[in-house]
Amino acid sequence: MDNHTKEQRHTNMCHIRANSKPEQIVRSYLFSKGFRFRKNDKRYPGQPDIVLPKYKIVIFVNGCFWHQHPGCKYASVPKSNKEYWIPKLNKNAANDSKNIAMLEEMGWKVITIWECALKPDKCAETAEKLYKQIISNNIT
Ligand SMILES: [Zn+2]
Repeated sequence: MDNHTKEQRHTNMCHIRANSKPEQIVRSYLFSKGFRFRKNDKRYPGQPDIVLPKYKIVIFVNGCFWHQHPGCKYASVPKSNKEYWIPKLNKNAANDSKNIAMLEEMGWKVITIWECALKPDKCAETAEKLYKQIISNNIT
């Protein structure tokens, strides 16, 4: 556990404007750390929000409801209109799994960041973890 740079590392992401879209929060954070990436690259399954070619990593920043974050309180299906929502949401989740499997087969490491992990109480921890995941996958 290295504590000496910990504070500096996760200050940025958590102080980004609260009304930013979740993927923008993560992009701003990575950019501030000097990572260079591509956005919504159509050449990859599922058009990942962030592609880090140097690290062979793709990142999806997923809304908990639309992508059905397992066990998450923000993912609960509305009581009314279930016959509409359930197939639709199941389809989203199935597409996500398929895209992840394809990307992994292509040799990419896939990181999913859930929207709830970017809330103020979790943000620092998420940023720290993400940073470590990326640098530990440095293939150059
Ligand atoms: Zn969630």
